[in-house]
Amino acid sequence: MAKQEKVRKRILVIGGDGIGPEVTRWGRRVLEAVAEKYGHEFIFEEGLMGHAAIEATGDPLPEDTLSKARQSDAILFGAIGHPKYDQDPGLKVRPEQGLLRIRKELGLYANLRPIKLFDELLAASSIKPEVLQGADILFFRELTGDVYFGEKKKAEDGSWASDLMIYHAYEVERIARRAFEAARQRRKTLCSVDKANVLESSRLWRATVQRIAADYPDVTCTHMFVDNAAMQLIRDPRQFDVILTANLFGDILTDEASQIAGSMGMLASASIGDGTGLYEPIHGSAPDIAGKGIANPLASILSVALMLQIGFQMQEEAEAVVRAVDQTLKAGYRTVDIADKHTPNHMMVGTDGMGQQIIRFLS
Ligand code: NAD
Repeated sequence: MAKQEKVRKRILVIGGDGIGPEVTRWGRRVLEAVAEKYGHEFIFEEGLMGHAAIEATGDPLPEDTLSKARQSDAILFGAIGHPKYDQDPGLKVRPEQGLLRIRKELGLYANLRPIKLFDELLAASSIKPEVLQGADILFFRELTGDVYFGEKKKAEDGSWASDLMIYHAYEVERIARRAFEAARQRRKTLCSVDKANVLESSRLWRATVQRIAADYPDVTCTHMFVDNAAMQLIRDPRQFDVILTANLFGDILTDEASQIAGSMGMLASASIGDGTGLYEPIHGSAPDIAGKGIANPLASILSVALMLQIGFQMQEEAEAVVRAVDQTLKAGYRTVDIADKHTPNHMMVGTDGMGQQIIRFLS
């Protein structure tokens, strides 16, 4: 195998809120271990976003963070969110505005979420092992359009509110191309999920995907309504290879699919566009377990693997990280969210215990 060139990369680390900084710390430690092992130079900077940033500066995405983000080769992000805002939807300045804005500012229009179960976690899922075994799905969720970014309105007297669900053909086209390209490297099937029987924006989505599909005759393209997709994911997840879907549907379906991977604490994602990519776990700030030292850091560590693979084209390094996760699970180490009594040699660890094992196997 050709030896990888030593490279220099700037990485912005944004821990965020709740368990964000707790798990991201281990993502960074893994990057440091990779740099040492392979002789790369990773230069780290830290940035604030979310509730932590509002507390410090009044702004959920301070200019300092945004300008550091623009100068970085990749961003490792944790999670944002605080119960204060969830309990008071009327608050105008909110943590999630930071995340939505950084996605928009950096043009991160495609969110990739690989859903693959480590064999050791078959028993940790609430789905039957025989249904799950071998499931391997790659979601492409559109990230900068849809009802999240459409015009928002509400009546002065609070009697009605609306969010505009809107897509432009170019937004569908650019993510569809990425998804078809990825399907080409996999099992060559792509399922586009929409609600074209009811929604005009979904009819535009479907027509655009059908048009792009003509450029990829080697990829089998199918279409499924989102309600059916929600059911099929649990009934027979192995039928899917690449799933392409819009922002709102993708948000919901990928959380549902996290059960295929055993836990929210296991799922990584990459948000990419034409510039700097952002790599993050799919889970939130988990205020119910924040500060307890029990959060699973594997989603952050697997996000680092995606950064190495997609952002830096470091295939060997990415595989080494995934292998370390596999070996740690095989050795029986479990955080509470993936614990199961069926693993004979299973050892309960907290965030730091899990992180240390990954570093040990990696080194
Ligand atoms: P959540 O993902 O934070 O938590 C859902 C459940 O999963 C909780 O029981 C939590 O303890 C558990 N969990 C999540 N990550 C875990 C991990 N690494 N290890 C072990 N268990 C884990 O979702 P939520 O409770 O709906 O939201 C909490 C806050 O996070 C809210 O303020 C929400 O707005 C925010 N949020 C942020 C993001 C993001 O930053 N990308 C995503 C979703 C939610």
